[in-house]
Amino acid sequence: MRLFKTPRFFRLIFPNKTWGFSRLENTVYLTFDDGPDPEVTPWILDQLKEKEILATFFCVGANVQLHPEIYQRIINDGHSIGNHSMNHENGLRTSNQVYYSSIEQASKLIDSNLFRPPYGRMSLSQTKRLKRNYKIIMWSWLSYDFDEKTSIETILNKAKQQIKGGDILVLHDNPKSFNRIKILLPQLIDCVEKKQFEFKRITV
Ligand SMILES: [Zn+2]
Repeated sequence: MRLFKTPRFFRLIFPNKTWGFSRLENTVYLTFDDGPDPEVTPWILDQLKEKEILATFFCVGANVQLHPEIYQRIINDGHSIGNHSMNHENGLRTSNQVYYSSIEQASKLIDSNLFRPPYGRMSLSQTKRLKRNYKIIMWSWLSYDFDEKTSIETILNKAKQQIKGGDILVLHDNPKSFNRIKILLPQLIDCVEKKQFEFKRITV
C-alpha cells in the first residue's frame, strides 16, 4: 500500500519536524527534491514561471557543485531553497560524524536554514542536533512521481481526494522521474488551483 498522505501518528511521534502547515491556510507548498538537474530543473522552472508559482527546492550539494548556474536560476526566479545534504546520505545508515559533515559541506554551497533529510530518514539524535541550526521540513503529501508502479491517474485521483490547505507536496527534479513529472506536474498544479488554493514557497 502506498501512503500518499503522511499518517497523523507520524506527526505526533515526530513533532520537532515540520510535516505541514495549518489546515486553515489557503496555501499549498510545492517542493522538489534532489536537483539541480540540467534537464529536469529548467523544465520545472519554466512551468512554474509560466504559471507564476513559487516553490521550494531541496538541493543536493554535489548537484549544486555540478550545475551552479541552474542553482542560481532557482534563486533568481524567486524560489526558496533548502539543504538536502551533500551526497544524499541516509541518516540511519550513516555515522553522525559523516552525516553532519555532509550537511555542513552542502551548507557552504546552499545558503538556507531549511533542511530535508534524504529518504526522510534520520535518527532522533541527528534530528535534535540539526534542529539547532535548521528548520526540518518533511512533507504531508508524497506524489510517488518516482514510482513507475503507481499510475499518473492514481496519483491525480489521490491528489483530488487528499490535498488540503497547508499541505507540503513532494516531487523530484531527478532524471528518473522526468517522463512522469512532465505529465504529472501541470495536472497536479491544475488540481490544486481548482481547489482554490494558492501556491507559496516555504520561508521560515
Ligand atoms: Zn532526496
